[in-house]
Amino acid sequence: MAKINSVCGPLDTNDLGFTLMHEHIMVGAAGAYEDFPEFFGPKPMARVVEGLKKAKEGGVDTIVDATTLDLGRDIHLLYEASKQSKVNIIACAGWWLEIPRFFEGLSADQLAEVFLREIEHGISGTNIKAGILKAAHDIGGVTPMGETMIRAVARAHLKSGVPIMLHSYSPGRVGLQQLAVLKDEGVNLNRVKMDHSNDTMDVEYLISLMEEGCYLGLDRYPGMNVSPLSRTKTMKALIDEGYADRLCPSHDGSILHILVDNPVMTEKERLLKNPYGFLFIKNVVFPQLKEMGVPEDIINGLCVRGPKNFFLG
Ligand SMILES: [Zn+2]
Repeated sequence: MAKINSVCGPLDTNDLGFTLMHEHIMVGAAGAYEDFPEFFGPKPMARVVEGLKKAKEGGVDTIVDATTLDLGRDIHLLYEASKQSKVNIIACAGWWLEIPRFFEGLSADQLAEVFLREIEHGISGTNIKAGILKAAHDIGGVTPMGETMIRAVARAHLKSGVPIMLHSYSPGRVGLQQLAVLKDEGVNLNRVKMDHSNDTMDVEYLISLMEEGCYLGLDRYPGMNVSPLSRTKTMKALIDEGYADRLCPSHDGSILHILVDNPVMTEKERLLKNPYGFLFIKNVVFPQLKEMGVPEDIINGLCVRGPKNFFLG
């Protein structure tokens, strides 16, 4: 038993329940939700609450919101959303990819201090605390600024005990570079979750990460480039190898995102692709796993045992 910082206060690990470990209630850019609300469409809070209530009715108890400051994290929105929907929400400290020039020259220790403040005292002047740390590296690997960020996250973790989630580029095996820096900082890798791991089907690579100690976020559903069915086959292969309790399936979905006139994918197309929202895994993936012969008790433990083990450390 341990306590996690949720946006509505301390949450017991026994009360996590069915947990989606990488989602976004709202995703944008720093300050966008407050300053340019029109880009998020009409009645944003009502849509958030409706989306979360639907998830709750479908059996989702807890959501880790992977929205960092640069992705537009709004702690007041997360608090209201959790209070009204009764879905536990865990907010994150740390950084995604868009590191501003303003940060150049800051040291890992200086950045660790501000992340630590968000964990120990609160975010945006509130007493709402972050329950997870995030660092991100993509196709270019761990860049010099990205290295400062992950070292800062490692140091805030070592002081606070709050675990780490990593945005990673699995087709390029960027996870190996990320874990090397964390090891260099003295982080116990069983406090680390490697996200977007189901963007590859390289099971050998994924097992090598877990053998280092970390958890896997199989958190792109339906996702792009790799089909949902291929993602589920990868999950099945990892389950067959005995790693079910180290897997964290999730969607990397969002309720509010920027609405543009000429989108890559229109709102309608998005809905057609995933009419289930945060219930795609329950409604599509779990039946696929069942059909593939995965025992019911293992399926029922997905999104429960992995997240709990991860937070318990
Ligand atoms: Zn994400």
